[in-house]
Amino acid sequence: MKSLGDLVYPPTCLGCGIRTGRHAAFCGGCWSQIRFIERPYCDRLGLPFSYDPGPGMLSAQAIAEPPVFDRLRSVAIHEGAARNLVHSRNIATAPTWRR
Ligand SMILES: [Zn+2]
Repeated sequence: MKSLGDLVYPPTCLGCGIRTGRHAAFCGGCWSQIRFIERPYCDRLGLPFSYDPGPGMLSAQAIAEPPVFDRLRSVAIHEGAARNLVHSRNIATAPTWRR
């Protein structure tokens, strides 16, 4: 049984906005498009490597311009549904003068 809230605000996909069966979820199409970053990746910047250079390797970018932080990690490539999710969260949490 759906709640009154679901009738007023039906669950929609976080990526494309089509109706889904539950809140805070992606539809199957968007989920299948998300490219998750898995090892091997740069231990400092989290950039994915196309081959495995071995444990503890840093990317050329991390060596050429060492960041001020020790480690940065992203769960997915910033494109498609993942990008839409980040942008929608930025808009939702932005101060009202930025909307
Ligand atoms: Zn979707």
